[in-house]
Parts: sequence; C-alpha cells; structure tokens
Amino acid sequence: MRSLTVIFATPIVCCSLFEAMFSASEGRPLSAHERWMREALQAARDARTAGEVPVGTCVVIGDELLAVAGNRTRTDCDPTAHAEMVALRAAARKLGNYRLAKTIVYSTLEPCAMCAGALIQARVSLLVYGAADEKAGAVESHFQICDANQLNHRVEVIKGVLESECRELMQEFFKERR
Ligand SMILES: [Zn+2]
Repeated sequence: MRSLTVIFATPIVCCSLFEAMFSASEGRPLSAHERWMREALQAARDARTAGEVPVGTCVVIGDELLAVAGNRTRTDCDPTAHAEMVALRAAARKLGNYRLAKTIVYSTLEPCAMCAGALIQARVSLLVYGAADEKAGAVESHFQICDANQLNHRVEVIKGVLESECRELMQEFFKERR
C-alpha cells in the first residue's frame, strides 16, 4: 500500500517529521520552500491588483525559476487561466517539454480538480501549497487527485507553507468584495 505523503509544515517539528520534510522535499529545508512561496505570494498580490482572485503559482526546477503567474481568468476571459495552469504552460514552453519531470510547483492555494489534474499530466514531482481550499481544493479537501491510485502518476505534497499569509490574502479579497 502506498503511504500518504501529505506533510504538515507546522512549526512544531519532531524528529521523524523533520526527516520526512527533508526527504519529501528532495533535501530542501523548509526555508527554501518559503522562499519560493514568497514568489507565488507576490504573483497572487499582483493578481489581486488586476482584479483577479489572489492566487499565485511558481514552477521551479533545481534552483531555477521556470515560471511564475497569478490568476488570469478575467484578464484573459479564460475559465482555465488559473495561476497553476498559466504557470505550467509557461514552464513547459521554457523547457520545450510538455512533461515537467523533477519540477516543484508552489501555489498559494490548494489546487482545484482541473489544476491538480494538470499537475498529474505534467508529471510534476512535488506540489507545495499554502492554504487549503475547503470549497474546491482537490488535493486534500476533496478528491485527493495527487494521490489517486487510478492515475498513472503521483505528485508528492507538502501543505501549509506560509499558510496564514496565503489564507489571509484570500480572506481579505472576499471580505472586500462583500
Ligand atoms: Zn485551479
């Protein structure tokens, strides 16, 4: 049986969890994940300025940033232009390969079913996200697409990196709209 690889990035770190964090993140300490999540957060803030739902994503391979994007659904009049989709497309173009093996995707929000499916299609190795999306999240909240036995690829997941900043950005946005 495959083990569930969702790891909580809580500040309280016991020995085994600490080791698990390093192994699941290809030797990266949590601070490296926070650094890239800040890139995604900046893209989310830029999206908000443009009147979009503030979600941001970046795609990284090794220490190289392949792509960073925020939501563009309204800007592009495109229901598929979620931050993850925009960033995956740009990363694939940059690599010249529709398979994004060995890449890490950082997203401020738990991906939806479409985006989680795209992570599988792209063969992304690790997804790091900030806040859970209790309504539409398809990684942990619903469906568990990244860990589905029926699919022929599995994406490792670390959740809760800079969670409060990512969540507050969403909460502020929806509060302002009410
Ligand atoms: Zn999505």
